[in-house]
Amino acid sequence: MTLTLTGVTLTYPDGDGRLTALDRVALDVPAGTLTAVVGPSGSGKSSLLAVAATLVAPDAGAVVVAGTDTTGLGRAEKAALRRERIGIVFQQPNLLPSLTAVEQLQVMTHLSGGRAGVARARALDLLDAVGLAGQAGRRPHQLSGGQRQRINIARALMNDPALLLVDEPTSALDHERGAAVLDLLVSLTRQRSTATVLVTHDRAHLDRVDRTVTMLDGRLTAPVLT
Ligand code: ADP
Ligand code: MG
Repeated sequence: MTLTLTGVTLTYPDGDGRLTALDRVALDVPAGTLTAVVGPSGSGKSSLLAVAATLVAPDAGAVVVAGTDTTGLGRAEKAALRRERIGIVFQQPNLLPSLTAVEQLQVMTHLSGGRAGVARARALDLLDAVGLAGQAGRRPHQLSGGQRQRINIARALMNDPALLLVDEPTSALDHERGAAVLDLLVSLTRQRSTATVLVTHDRAHLDRVDRTVTMLDGRLTAPVLT
C-alpha cells in the first residue's frame, strides 16, 4: 500500500474552541490506482491532501507513505520524503510567468540538485506524456487553462513520485477538458504506478476512476468501487 491513513484527526483553532477538519479518517491507496475524494466545499478534502502530503501533521492518527510512517519524522525528513516520493498538484498551477513550459519542470530538479541535461530530457518526456510535446517553448500566457493544468501535472511527476496528490484539477475547466484531464490522470497512474488521490467537488467523469470516497464534515464514507 503506497498511502495508508489510519484514525487521522485534524483540528484547527476556531474562536475559543477547535474546528474538526478531519475526523478519524482511514484510507488505503494501492500503487497504480486512482481514488477520487468528493464532497462539498469545506468538508475537509484539501485538509486530507495536506495531511497525506506531510505538509500538516494530524492531531492524532498515522500517515504512512511508501512504507515510511511519517509520525515521528522531523521537518527536514518530511521535506526529503516529499522531494523524493510525493508529487503534489495544487488547485492553482502557480506557473512562473517568465519560464517556458519545459523550464517550469526543470526548476524542480534545480531545487533538488539534479543534473541539468538529464532534467531537461526528463522534462521533455513528461511534456510529451501529458500531450504537450509541441509546447515546450511556450510561456504560460501562450497556453490555455487546460494546457497550464497539464504542465502542473507534469511538474508534479518530475521526481517520479510513488504518491500523487491532486487538488481540484478540473475546477477551472469546461466539461470536455475536465474529462480529458481525468483520462490523463488515470493513464499516468497506470503507466507510472502512482498511488493517486484526486480531490474534487465535481462528480462528473468519476466513472473513469478506480474508487470514489465521499468526504462529509471531515468524515470519509465507505468506499464505492466503480
Ligand atoms: P475543502 O477542501 O473540502 O473545501 P478544507 O479542507 O479546505 O475543505 O476545509 C475544511 C474545514 O477546515 C473548513 O471548515 C475550513 O474553513 C477549515 N480550514 C481549512 N484550513 C484552515 C486553516 N488553515 N485554519 C483554520 N481553518 C481551516
Ligand atoms: Mg479544497
